Amino acid sequence: MKIGFIGLGNMGAPMAANLVAAGHDVTGYDVAAPMPQGVTAAASAAEAAAGQEVVITMLPNGEILRAVAAQIIPAMAPGTGFADCSTVDVESARAVAAEAEAAGLLPVDAPVSGGVGGAAAGTLTFMAGGSDAAFAKAEPLFEIMGQKAVHCGPSGNGQAAKICNNMILGVTMIATCEAFALADKLGLSRQAMFDVVSTSSGYSWTMNAYCPAPGIGPISPADNGYQPGFASDLMLKDLRLSQQAAEAADADTPMGQAATELYAQFVEHEDGAGKDFSAMLPRLESRRRG
Ligand code: NAD
Repeated sequence: MKIGFIGLGNMGAPMAANLVAAGHDVTGYDVAAPMPQGVTAAASAAEAAAGQEVVITMLPNGEILRAVAAQIIPAMAPGTGFADCSTVDVESARAVAAEAEAAGLLPVDAPVSGGVGGAAAGTLTFMAGGSDAAFAKAEPLFEIMGQKAVHCGPSGNGQAAKICNNMILGVTMIATCEAFALADKLGLSRQAMFDVVSTSSGYSWTMNAYCPAPGIGPISPADNGYQPGFASDLMLKDLRLSQQAAEAADADTPMGQAATELYAQFVEHEDGAGKDFSAMLPRLESRRRG
C-alpha cells in the first residue's frame, strides 16, 4: 500500500518502520525528526499526503493536528484513508474528521496504548472512531503496527476511549501508590502488601503488571530508577484531556480532577517531569499528612 506518515517522533518513527518492514511504500514528513530507514522523505506534509491510499498522522496535540489537517486534506484524493493516531482532544478529533469527510476522505481517530515499547514491537492497541468504511480501510495497517484494534463507534470515540482509560490509569496509580505509602508507615512489608493486594479485590494493572514499588512484582520502571516507561508529563497531558472532555460534556469526575491536580503539582512544581508516572510512590512516601 502507498502510505503517507506525518509525525515521526518517538512513536511515529517505529510505527512507520514496521509498515516499511511489512513491505509497504511509506513517504514521511516531520518538521524536526529524521526519517526512519526505508521511509522516503517528502518536502512538506501536503507532499507526503498526496497520491497515497492511507495517510497516518502521529502528532503532539490537537492544535498541531488541526494545522496539519488543513494542509493535507486538500492534497488527498476522495476515498483516501486518514488515520490520526495522536492523542488529542475529542473536539479537535471530531472537527478534523468532519472536514475530512466533507472532502470525501475516510477519517478515523485511532489513538494508541502501549507506548514506545509497543510501537517498536508492533504490539500497540488502537482504539478507533469513525465510519465502518474508514475503519476497514485503516485496519490492515493497525494489524501491522499493533496487536488489537477496537472500533469504538463514530468519530471522536477513539479519543474518548483513550482518555477514559488513561483517567482510570492515573487515578489507579495514585491509589496504588498511596496505599503502599500507608502500608509502609503501618509496618507492612511491600512484598506482603503486593502478595495480598495482587490476589485480592484491590488488584489492578498498576499493582499487578506495573508495580510502583522497586523490587516487587514484575520488572517495571520502578526497578530502573523510575525512568519512563510512561512519563508523568504524558499522564498529565491525558488527564487534562479527560478534564477538558468532562467539562465539555458536563460529567462529574472528582477523582479524575484530583489526579490531574496531583500530577500537575508533581510535574510543574516538584521533580516529576521526565520521571515515570509510577514515581508518585517516592513522592508520596517522602511526605507527611496535611
Ligand atoms: P514526539 O514529540 O516524539 O513526536 C511528535 C512528532 O511530531 C515530532 O517528531 C515533531 O517534530 C512532529 N511534528 C510536530 N509538529 C509537526 C508538524 N506541523 N508537521 C509534521 N510533524 C510535526 O511525541 P510521541 O511520543 O511520538 O507522541 C505522539 C503522540 O502519541 C502524542 O499525541 C502522544 O500523546 C501520543 N502517545 C504517546 C505515547 C508515548 O509513550 N510516547 C503513548 C501513547 C500515545
